[in-house]
Amino acid sequence: MWKILLLYLLSLFLALILLPASLVGGWWRWESREGIRPLDGAPAKYFPASEAWVRDLKIYCTVQKKMLDLPLEEYIAGVVAAEMPASFHPEALKAQAIIARTYALVKVRQGGCSKNPGADLCTGSTCCQAWEDIRTVAEKWPEKEASFYLERILNAVESTRGAVLMYREDLAQTVYHSTCGGETEAAAEAWSGGGDVPYLQSVECNFCRHSPHYTGEQEMDPASYAAALRKESGALPVLGEGNIPLMEVVSRSGSGRNMLLRIGNSGQLYRGEEIRRLLGLPSTYFRWQAEGDRIIFYTRGYGHGVGLCQYGADGMASQGYTFPEILQFYYRETEVRLLNDH
Ligand SMILES: [Zn+2]
Ligand SMILES: [Zn+2]
Repeated sequence: MWKILLLYLLSLFLALILLPASLVGGWWRWESREGIRPLDGAPAKYFPASEAWVRDLKIYCTVQKKMLDLPLEEYIAGVVAAEMPASFHPEALKAQAIIARTYALVKVRQGGCSKNPGADLCTGSTCCQAWEDIRTVAEKWPEKEASFYLERILNAVESTRGAVLMYREDLAQTVYHSTCGGETEAAAEAWSGGGDVPYLQSVECNFCRHSPHYTGEQEMDPASYAAALRKESGALPVLGEGNIPLMEVVSRSGSGRNMLLRIGNSGQLYRGEEIRRLLGLPSTYFRWQAEGDRIIFYTRGYGHGVGLCQYGADGMASQGYTFPEILQFYYRETEVRLLNDH
């Protein structure tokens, strides 16, 4: 009994100590916190940081419709908060912090966001990467968990401060997605003209089975199916007798995703990604069946499937893998290094 009481008192004490004293009004400001050494225990291999990378980033906020000046690490904290559930394992959050940082620096080097001139990155998840002010995100967390989640995210960012993912002597292209559904996709197959990236190959992933998107079913009535496709296919019939979709897979990628599809009886081909967008499906990993007056899409995963699988990273971390191991699993032959003078 006394043990329970002691535990209770201890947790109460910890909660009081750990609860950021100023949880109300202006309680959070980015600053490097003492006592946390980046990549604690890992061999520090340095990569020279260019000057552009240590200045504040120009972030175009697509919600507030204005440009924000943010220090790199403050930006990364907002990306981790917006791109990955804070309930994920700390090692997965660290992997996310590193790939978000690497992705940002690659964008800076490429001349910034292609949609918003003058911005290094925007906060659109389909254009650059999602970002939200961590205070706004914290408001959505259950009150009980808020300080614990905040601490987790800040720790993931601080403990990897300045760490980036490298392939040979260059920054890696650290694209990522929510759930692969069993196997990730090679960049060369996902994106036409994307070229073959040695570390963005398809890997079998048995770690994302706990994702709500691992497999899915989406029902559509034939009229909405036809309307969605007709926007692109014009007057072509897209449904056959008995409302069977006139759609056929022309080619599949090595992982089984639909790369090219034919709609109607024409020779017109569509990329899997286009059909996914038109029909509002979670990925290009789908098949379908007409059942009665419905068309049912059976889907796997969520997102383009290239690079790191976020739910997979969480699954790996829960099985004891560390963040460098997680990163090396999804981006083969890469390594984590620290930026100089960061
Ligand atoms: Zn952008
Ligand atoms: Zn996966």
